[in-house]
Amino acid sequence: MVSVTLEVPGIGKYEQPTGLFINNEFIKGKKGQEFEVINPSTEKVICKVHEATEEDVDIAVAAARKAFKAGSEYRNMSTAARGKLLLNLADLFEKNIDLLASVESLDNGKSITMAKGDIGACIGCLRYYGGWADKIHGKVITTAEGTFSYTKREPIGVCGQIIPWNFPLLMWAWKIAPAIACGCTVVLKTAEQTPLGGLVAAGLCKEAGFPPGVVNVISGFGKTAGAAISTHMDIDKVAFTGSTFIGRTIMKAAASSNLKKVTLELGGKSPNIVFEDADIDDAISWVNFGIFYNHGQCCCAGSRIYVQESIYDKFIQRFKERAAKNVVGDPFDPNTFQGPQVSQLQYDRIMDYIKSGKEEGATVEIGGERHGDVGYFIKPTIFSNVKHEMKIMQEEIFGPVCAIAKFKDAEEVIDIANDSMYGLAAAVHTKSLNTAIKVSDALKAGTVWVNCYNLLHWSLPFGGFRQSGIGRELGKAALDNYTQVKTVSINM
Ligand code: NAD
Repeated sequence: MVSVTLEVPGIGKYEQPTGLFINNEFIKGKKGQEFEVINPSTEKVICKVHEATEEDVDIAVAAARKAFKAGSEYRNMSTAARGKLLLNLADLFEKNIDLLASVESLDNGKSITMAKGDIGACIGCLRYYGGWADKIHGKVITTAEGTFSYTKREPIGVCGQIIPWNFPLLMWAWKIAPAIACGCTVVLKTAEQTPLGGLVAAGLCKEAGFPPGVVNVISGFGKTAGAAISTHMDIDKVAFTGSTFIGRTIMKAAASSNLKKVTLELGGKSPNIVFEDADIDDAISWVNFGIFYNHGQCCCAGSRIYVQESIYDKFIQRFKERAAKNVVGDPFDPNTFQGPQVSQLQYDRIMDYIKSGKEEGATVEIGGERHGDVGYFIKPTIFSNVKHEMKIMQEEIFGPVCAIAKFKDAEEVIDIANDSMYGLAAAVHTKSLNTAIKVSDALKAGTVWVNCYNLLHWSLPFGGFRQSGIGRELGKAALDNYTQVKTVSINM
């Protein structure tokens, strides 16, 4: 195995795979290139991993194609046996939860408590889709006497999957689980900032009994390995999570190569709306969680906060007090709520947004500066008096920064909330069922939370309206991403 011995708090020494996982083996890249993985808490190099080039993508795709061929060990498996692969993998995730969570904290900087929550959600997702594998079927349709038609849901084939760095293992599970449930094979590229967890999990696939070539996991950069996936002529479908900008690039690449199917889970600038009749403490807890969870690095982060004018001042005062209690610091301390941002680049991007908010005249209520001297830490930052046209109200910051504005009534807030190119998520806080349903119906978002936030579950479809994405992940809806319908009509 191509690997390196690393040490993580709570685990001690472990063997970290660093090669490309192709055909159930960790191998070196063809060009022998490696890149450094940085610990965002210390800014020090953790290790180097092998970098996939275009040639390596070809090798991974060939492995996935061979595993998908009719008559292969994988294709000959019963659907229940295929589901069992995912159930076995879930058991291995459970057995290795401490290791996986520690690697995630090391690599991404998220707190160990949240990382364990993420791995718990991976396990739920793997089991959920393990259960689906033998329940995917078509319909019988009769169009006229003497004819008989049926539909089948066939796996799409070889799937390229490109994931981001904000939830490295959760995105890995969200992508791989439905693909396998449907009988596809996979070439997954992790984000260059966070390749470690995905490689550990890849090794578990082998242990779970996945035949060679079914799941291939490669580390590498977007412009090279990512582009090679999205333009590849022998990949049948690409599933991407990341920025809207790159989502557009991937769609163009798919269109100009083999017109592969595309699903995209992209960015957001989600509105979180607090009405005057809401339970204010409860709403503040959810608003705090909605923006500062995962250091604001969530595609569905509730980064635009609209508060009804009669409670605006009280809300800001109490929200400030609440956010000041968020513990920022060492991800390996179980009490930490917020670790560092993932990279120097993200840190700089976020600090630029903070600067622009200050320059454009918004009020910094709390934060607005770095935390500590080492690592990419930023204090939880609340801007009030934010005008609709300001950059911090319009653009996805992807950090612990929120923008607050006041509103008069439901009609006004629906208009401003919907005035965005995004439409991933939204939330409404109110005690009135009437307001909750009326506003939820009017919001242009793939998910609306009422009196809560970030309530994601593997059985609930998740995805974006407008420029926040195409297709839905999770739930039964994700099975549509990885199957295609065949109609067979018989004249009797
Ligand atoms: P990104 O969209 O550039 O990267 C996400 C993934 O796409 C990574 O695996 C990357 O290697 C790959 N990629 C990059 N360029 C590619 C290309 N040309 N072809 C194929 N794949 C490519 O995200 P980023 O640069 O890491 O972050 C930039 C911004 O994106 C963030 O500030 C944030 O706003 C947003 N973002 C959103 C999400 C999300 O979950 N919606 C996740 C990460 C980042």
